[in-house]
Amino acid sequence: MIIIMRPDATEANIQHIIDRTAKLGLKANISRGVERTVIGFIGPEDALRAIPLEVFPGVDQVLQVLAPYRLVSREFKKDNTVIKLPYGTTVGGKKIVVMAGPCSIESYEGLLSIGRTIKAMGATILRGGAFKPRTSPYDFQGLGEDGLKILQRVGKEVGICTITEVMDTRQVEMVAKYADILQIGARNIQNFSLLKEVGASKKPVMLKRGMATTVKEWLMSAEYLLASGNYDVMLCERGIRTFETATRNTLDVNAVAVAKRLSHLPVVVDPSHGTGSWEYVAGGARAGIAVGCDALMIEVHENPEEALSDGAQSLMPDKFADLMASCKRVAAAVDRDL
Ligand code: PEP
Ligand code: MN
Repeated sequence: MIIIMRPDATEANIQHIIDRTAKLGLKANISRGVERTVIGFIGPEDALRAIPLEVFPGVDQVLQVLAPYRLVSREFKKDNTVIKLPYGTTVGGKKIVVMAGPCSIESYEGLLSIGRTIKAMGATILRGGAFKPRTSPYDFQGLGEDGLKILQRVGKEVGICTITEVMDTRQVEMVAKYADILQIGARNIQNFSLLKEVGASKKPVMLKRGMATTVKEWLMSAEYLLASGNYDVMLCERGIRTFETATRNTLDVNAVAVAKRLSHLPVVVDPSHGTGSWEYVAGGARAGIAVGCDALMIEVHENPEEALSDGAQSLMPDKFADLMASCKRVAAAVDRDL
């Protein structure tokens, strides 16, 4: 059961519910969003039936949500969540949003050039990692805070929103200072401390599905973010591990359709990591749009041969322009804009 408080509910109204339900052996979980406070419960929820919560002061609605990912579910919220970002970008509406940029931030000049290019081609969010989750400790680990400074500077100069990965609870405050959107990577999807910390930051966030997480586990991880009061959450399908080795990962387009049905949150498709090879990226992007995604994340690099990470799956600008053109046609076919 979930209680949605009215926007004008007072702290005393909330405390009254906490105290009253504690007497029934329940612990209230308070999720303070920007517009409303939602109360969920840990403990024997059946006991709640004994009290008429609807008439408690400050209560707007009492909802019986069956899905374990309560706040993330469509049962809780029928309409699609639309996330408002700087520079007038919104994710979750009719327009499919494109995030593009290099895997890693490598230099100010390089990022500025690619930022201008992808914006001119229709992307509205610039991506680039400063903290890189690399399989080998000997591979490039990212420029750290210097990279974040470059990202912020380039974002302002180009006039475009920025997204970058946060890998560690100790970095959340710093990354949130420089970037418009926090990315939680595939490898951290069940780092529950990180989820809680990013949830508390209230910065828009994109949660990547892990390479071995079910859709349900993905949504449960998103629930941590919403339960911590952050409702500006995007889900991102970036390919899963299967028996197939012909591609780096298997882009699970089914999961996009399932997530869209089960949840009100916007869904992003990342065919760069989903395929691992530049040749398959545009096809994966078109498939994502066809199946109902709200945004794309595409790795673009001016010189993939020299890229410090993920060169093999990075598109050169001309190929990115081709992707945009073909994706526009697919978007129109499924009644979306791009
Ligand atoms: C990335 O976006 O560069 C990245 C590391 O993604 P993932 O977490 O999906 O591997
Ligand atoms: Mn990458």
